[in-house]
Amino acid sequence: MHYVDAKGILTSNSGIHGMNIYRGCTHGCIYCDSRSKCYQFTHDFEDIEVKQNAPGLLEMALKSKRKKCMIGTGAMSDPYMHCEEKLELTRKCLEIISRYEFGLAIQTKSDRIMRDIDLLDEINQKAKCVVQMTLTTYDDALCKIIEPNVCNTKRRIEVLEEMQKRGIPTVVWITPILPFINDTAENITSILNECVRVGVKGIIDFGMGLTLREGDREYYYAALDKYFPGLKEKYITHYGNSYELPSPNAKELRTILHNTCRSAGIISKAEECFKYMNELPDKYHQMSLFDL
Ligand code: SF4
Repeated sequence: MHYVDAKGILTSNSGIHGMNIYRGCTHGCIYCDSRSKCYQFTHDFEDIEVKQNAPGLLEMALKSKRKKCMIGTGAMSDPYMHCEEKLELTRKCLEIISRYEFGLAIQTKSDRIMRDIDLLDEINQKAKCVVQMTLTTYDDALCKIIEPNVCNTKRRIEVLEEMQKRGIPTVVWITPILPFINDTAENITSILNECVRVGVKGIIDFGMGLTLREGDREYYYAALDKYFPGLKEKYITHYGNSYELPSPNAKELRTILHNTCRSAGIISKAEECFKYMNELPDKYHQMSLFDL
């Protein structure tokens, strides 16, 4: 872990405001796209870059914004890695978001988010808070292999359930689905049944497959050699050097997903999920009219 003073913290991409308080990640997911070469890490991916001035930068940015908006975090680096227990930078940023009455769309795989449930409640009451969790496998033993340093899917579902009980809406990312590993109807159905039971608002899947590129691919293949001997060769035969590796079962799995979501009233189109996560409630739209 090393500390830096960042120049800025909020980025805007197609009108969506996001921030990453940390760079790199210690959860160890074998398929992690964030470790790809294109992101130009100059340090080991697990040697976390801590943007120690993130709360100060965020406060300055929010103070100067005329319109309230949703703030996203967690896309490139989990905001609840081990180091957050001591550093509390995510917590400090949530305090600022709450104080300035902005909305939050936060993504994590960790149950450490429960520590900050008081702030998530506050933000949700003042504006809107959406908690997003990634669920890839219902099998605990497999989860320990593919996402080794973070709580398992069943624990993540408990977190989602607690959020929903408190009226904090949740969105689940069922991605990536790894060909010949977790791409079974049984796995997807087990995850979906839990999503329906706890009442999640939306599910994003991105086509039931995996993407691989330089940096990420080598790490993933090394994990296949270690835990699934022979599977790397099968991938190379099936997909060559492709960036996109759809599961051979993708069509069936997507049908299961869409049928389940339709009958349970869960949003399953990615663009609708993103729209929902980027929208503040009506009272803010009314305020923004006066701001114009
Ligand atoms: S939690 Fe996300 S950023 Fe961290 S290792 Fe896993 S996939 Fe990568």
